Amino acid sequence: MMYDVIVVGARCAGSPLAMLLARKGYRVALVDRATFPSDVPHGHVILYRGVRFLRDWGLLERVERSNCPPIRRHTFDLGDFPLSGFPPAYDGIPGELAPRRYALDKLLVDAAVEAGAELREGCAVESLLWEGDRVTGIRYQTPTGAVAEEHTRVVVGADGRHSRVARAVSATPYRERPSLTCGYYSYWNGLASDDLEVHILPRPALALAFPTNDNLTCVAVQWPVAEFHAVRANIEKAFFAVLDLIPSLAARVRAGGREERFRGTADLLSYIRQASGPGWALVGDAGAHKDPLLATGISDAFNDAATLAEALDSGLSGREPLDASLAAWGRQRGATILPSYESSCLAASFPPPSPELLRLRAAIRRNQAAIDAFLGLGRGTMTDEVFTRLVA
Ligand SMILES: Cc1cc2nc3c(=O)[nH]c(=O)nc-3n(C[C@H](O)[C@H](O)[C@H](O)COP(=O)(O)OP(=O)(O)OC[C@H]3O[C@@H](n4cnc5c(N)ncnc54)[C@H](O)[C@@H]3O)c2cc1C
Repeated sequence: MMYDVIVVGARCAGSPLAMLLARKGYRVALVDRATFPSDVPHGHVILYRGVRFLRDWGLLERVERSNCPPIRRHTFDLGDFPLSGFPPAYDGIPGELAPRRYALDKLLVDAAVEAGAELREGCAVESLLWEGDRVTGIRYQTPTGAVAEEHTRVVVGADGRHSRVARAVSATPYRERPSLTCGYYSYWNGLASDDLEVHILPRPALALAFPTNDNLTCVAVQWPVAEFHAVRANIEKAFFAVLDLIPSLAARVRAGGREERFRGTADLLSYIRQASGPGWALVGDAGAHKDPLLATGISDAFNDAATLAEALDSGLSGREPLDASLAAWGRQRGATILPSYESSCLAASFPPPSPELLRLRAAIRRNQAAIDAFLGLGRGTMTDEVFTRLVA
């Protein structure tokens, strides 16, 4: 069987891509070594621009039905004082979302299968097949341990930050940075919290709390990576040493009950990789990985899926030569990812807030309309121009 596209990796980047291509009538295989539903120690928060993709794909209601509430209220504290409010609406989107990955990834996989993609769960891709310098297929291990091959016009690596596809095609990384932060998180009951709270402390550290599925609140702390060994030696102590600097949050977390173990990592290096070549492309973390501090990874993965589906449609349908459409998409992806990549690297180095920013926050402190607009700046639902007019 000759596929049009084989997608390796079936989570935020791979499943939507497989779904969009299958909806256009292409023969797509979606291969993952995991089975679904399954959790990953990755992120949750989907920014407004990411939620818009879910709505456009007809999947927003499914996420909400998974018992995951929309996040409408935001609190943003730079160590001076918290500002709380409601960022302006964005293209009719009710709010941001922070689903558990076992819920989100499963419904994305299901949507791809409903569209006609062929799912191969429990199948680990080991290497790629080549004709000259062109990728033509995959060699993989089936759940029984047998080795099988499949042929295709394009292989897409959506296989995360340790991407085997990226390694096999020797995709050149650029703008690499080592891990700048480390983080731990877990889930608490009884916090009755329905807003996304971000506290960036001068210590420096970041504390984050947001509602996720089934009435649980995810609470996370990120530190400079230099603290990783000390944090790991006693996670709970290090976690509460930061939370205790935010007494209102610490009191609520202590009053609640932790439902799961702490999970965390310091494996957060940043890179952008060459995104395409003859017969291959990379999406999501396989193509670019950023420190998660600004929570852009899932939304960027959705954008990769949407844009690559269009480019592949042009190439596979013959409207454009396939290699040219892949090359153009790769250049475009590199340019599109750059602003969020550089912002994430900067934020992860915990720069002190500028005096201008602190003055601005103090000036709008008792003006709720200005606070709402200010919060929208950070979430991409308010432009600098409109904000400047509003507070002038
Ligand atoms: C601690 C942490 C917190 C984060 N917080 C946020 C956040 O709040 N918001 C946000 O937007 N982003 C966050 N991120 C980033 C976000 O999780 C990623 O950007 C996102 O998961 C990328 O999705 P993906 O589909 O590209 O890769 P992944 O989710 O990594 O999925 C890759 C898939 O490929 C499969 N795979 C790998 N190798 C093979 C192989 N050889 N054969 C077959 N299958 C294979 C894996 O089994 C996996 O299912 C966070 C990341 C971390 C680490």
